[in-house]
Amino acid sequence: MVQLNVLLADSQQQASTNEASSMLNSMFNKENIDNFKIGLEQVMQLLEQTIATQQKPFSGILPQELAKKFIGIDLNQPLFDIPDALEEVAQLYLKDAVYFNNPRYLAHLNCPIVYQSILAELLATSINTAVETWDQSGGATFIEQSIVDWTLSKLALGEQADGVFTSGGTQSNLMAMLLARDFQCHLYAGHTNKQQGLPHDFRRLKIFTSKVSHFSIQKAAAILGLGYDAVVSVPCDEYFRMDMTALNQAIEQCQQQGDIVMAIVATAGTTDFGSIDPLTQIAEIAKRCGAWLHVDAAYGGGLLITPNNKHKLAGIECADSVTIDYHKSFFQPVSCSAFFVKDKQHLSVVTYHAEYLNPLSQQQAGTPDLCNKSIQTTRRFDALKLWFSLRTVGAQNLGVAFEQVMHLARQGYLLLASEADIEIIHQPQLSTLVFRFVGDSGATDSELDAVNKYIRKQLSRQGEALIAATKVADKQYLKFTLLNCATTINDIQQVVRLIKQYGYQYLASDLANEHAPLSLALEEVSYG
Ligand SMILES: *Cc1c(COP(=O)(O)O)cnc(C)c1O
Repeated sequence: MVQLNVLLADSQQQASTNEASSMLNSMFNKENIDNFKIGLEQVMQLLEQTIATQQKPFSGILPQELAKKFIGIDLNQPLFDIPDALEEVAQLYLKDAVYFNNPRYLAHLNCPIVYQSILAELLATSINTAVETWDQSGGATFIEQSIVDWTLSKLALGEQADGVFTSGGTQSNLMAMLLARDFQCHLYAGHTNKQQGLPHDFRRLKIFTSKVSHFSIQKAAAILGLGYDAVVSVPCDEYFRMDMTALNQAIEQCQQQGDIVMAIVATAGTTDFGSIDPLTQIAEIAKRCGAWLHVDAAYGGGLLITPNNKHKLAGIECADSVTIDYHKSFFQPVSCSAFFVKDKQHLSVVTYHAEYLNPLSQQQAGTPDLCNKSIQTTRRFDALKLWFSLRTVGAQNLGVAFEQVMHLARQGYLLLASEADIEIIHQPQLSTLVFRFVGDSGATDSELDAVNKYIRKQLSRQGEALIAATKVADKQYLKFTLLNCATTINDIQQVVRLIKQYGYQYLASDLANEHAPLSLALEEVSYG
């Protein structure tokens, strides 16, 4: 009885505070729908104003400058008022955000997005569906499964295939390496890793992937207890595709040492070069040596819906697993991504039956609980964005947009190749261009490294254009990633003009004062 009194007193005290009553006024429900609508309109106004006035892809602010704006903000002291809070967000976030929809954003694989997908995001977030179990999602489960099945029909992985949405390519690649590891351990040691942990000689497991594949493969190897050392980096041909002679040699060496070819990871669209490994040949090699074949099509997956470039993915149907990022070449908001597997039985590696959530009896009764095939438990309903885009924009149009940026990359290649002071090192296979400014006066490689770093920083500082950088054979290169069908060859021309302007500016100052290059080039600013 004493306890009950305590509880009653407690609840009375709470109900009487302002916080509790303002929570009642804050929940998304029918009582508050009018206020929600007002908030939406205020957000809409801010968005409209932001998009209308935003000219550059980036303000050019440095991290230490922006950090100052956060001093003195006390998160224990609410502003309460939505317009005030929006104004603060505008200052702290929107003003210095990076605008992927700007035609001169040419840096990373983040894409501009179709607006219809934002509408779907708003819906899914408002309902706050979590897709881990049928009893929390209903139709959302079938929408995700439909998108998975639709993608599988394009991948042609066969009747036993299945898939699941993930947070991104990194998580999908982790799942691939997890499934491959456990499959191989079962095969060679009769071991069930899920129950027993790794067999004692797990160090025999090796993963083969090209030198320019995504770092998430190394990361996956580390997370899975195999370590970076388990990853064998296979050299590439001149198109930055995995070299088949080198792969065969590396595999032979592995087998001679008594090691196990756990997996071959082929990349369909490398992050830097857009290069597509020879999938059919790799599939034959994987079959011959009993390796798990994973195809990382995080970037190149968009080819599946192009009218004229699907053939570039020929051989993907032989994969044991595939990664696709819809948030790259399908013009969807972050996150929107999925993992696919040829034989759905392998997904049981991530199945755990919790009595309160997804008991075995429920699966046996045929209830579709998506958490049975996911690493995650609570999971966003990301599939609705792509579903809504397919229903309103259409796969054909999304695919055509990807082809447009691929075409732009070829035009950009011709433009860069015609510039005497630019060195371009590959023909584009998807929509990236890797090149460097070389000037006209025979500068050394280390000088050129400094010039090209300077160019990128200067572009970012001025905010006129954002481009990426990468290293090839230890030399500093610049990179355009083209994903915006509003970018024209004229935009590229203008950015190249700026690149040359900053390049010559640096060389002039550098040569005039050899040991004191412009200070901006020296300060190493990390953009994360
Ligand atoms: C981007 C990318 C990834 C990682 O995907 P995230 O969605 O960023 O986690 C993996 N592989 C390739 C080839 C990529 O381009």
